[in-house]
Amino acid sequence: MIAFEKAVEIVRANAAVLHAESIPIEECLNRVLRQDVLSDVDMPPFDKAAMDGYACRRQDVGDALEVIEVIPAGKSPQRALGSRQCAKIMTGAMLPDGADCVIIVEEVEETAANTIRFMGGLTAPNISRKASDVVAGQTLVRSGVRIGPAEVASLALAGCVWPRVSRKPRIGIIATGDELVEPDAVPGSSQIRNSNACQLMAQCLQFGCAPVYYGIAKDAKDIIAGMLEKARQENDVILITGGVSMGDFDLVPSLLEESGIQIYFEKVAIQPGKPTVFGRIGEQAVFGLPGNPVSSFTVFETLVKEFLAVAMGLRNHVRTTRCRLARALKRENCARMAWVPVRITPEGFAVPVEYHGSAHITSMTGADGITSIPVDTYEVPEGSAVDVRQI
Ligand code: AMP
Ligand code: MG
Repeated sequence: MIAFEKAVEIVRANAAVLHAESIPIEECLNRVLRQDVLSDVDMPPFDKAAMDGYACRRQDVGDALEVIEVIPAGKSPQRALGSRQCAKIMTGAMLPDGADCVIIVEEVEETAANTIRFMGGLTAPNISRKASDVVAGQTLVRSGVRIGPAEVASLALAGCVWPRVSRKPRIGIIATGDELVEPDAVPGSSQIRNSNACQLMAQCLQFGCAPVYYGIAKDAKDIIAGMLEKARQENDVILITGGVSMGDFDLVPSLLEESGIQIYFEKVAIQPGKPTVFGRIGEQAVFGLPGNPVSSFTVFETLVKEFLAVAMGLRNHVRTTRCRLARALKRENCARMAWVPVRITPEGFAVPVEYHGSAHITSMTGADGITSIPVDTYEVPEGSAVDVRQI
């Protein structure tokens, strides 16, 4: 059995960075950027009005002002302002020469044709200065970042319409277990629904991968081997759930070895998830995940994602929130590190959700994240600061 940290180190060391491809900006949401994106423009590109109003000279704001033109956004001013002159200007339009403030339309009264007067006391400048937000040449989004809506906006601003991103890792998913039926079936006596496959598909999709599901393999080596062979032809990573513990029909570890897969570990000091297997054959990685749903869920979050993050070139994929524990976390056995599902209250407390053990997957729907109890620790006292890892 190896420590969790060691397992993370091994899976990361065995991941190769996937090649990058250029895709249309419309399709890049949730991909990992593989180039630095620099701005080719200043933003704002010129001194612009930040409000709808009248551009004028601050020294004139107490006087009646002659309106010499109207400047819509997208048009250049035609004239410079002279003494006691102003130009009606729209938000986003270029400021005329000579103007040093924009008095807002709500505080202006029209006193005669083409004449206005400022009714307010003081005015803010209401000007956004050229290059005050972005300077041409500035890096807006760095390589290794997952592209969210805000990054899409920055790419668009910079004219980066074919960003280079990581190819999606292809992930083959195989469920094993004689007791399993698919979710659309009504389980017979001694049967349960296969929740792991849909769950892992969802976890892969959310992480920006391309999963393919191969079905349920009976607990027979030739059947699992057949599916594994097919999955190996089409994927970068293969996830097999179930069949990895010590029962008579837990055939996956020996089968993987017989298939020529180099096994790096078969047990990790984590709870849940101890019987997790990791191996590699050529460029492909194979994870044997425990059948219990919370185990497969947690191991995907904490270990498989480590591998995928390296493969995708993704930096900082773990999001944590520091919280105070609302209740003590206690346990009888401290030989393994534990992952515990918690919810986060609006006040920032981590509250352990009702959780009966690794089969209790429905408990995860009430959880915002998982927090860990270190090896050799029986109790984390109430009020302790803990890091909650977002799930
Ligand atoms: P195993 O790892 O095959 O020994 O399975 C451990 C437990 O997880 C058993 O109670 C299985 O019935 C259950 N299990 C295995 N595979 C799945 C699955 N795909 N979906 C839901 N539960 C599963
Ligand atoms: Mg099984």
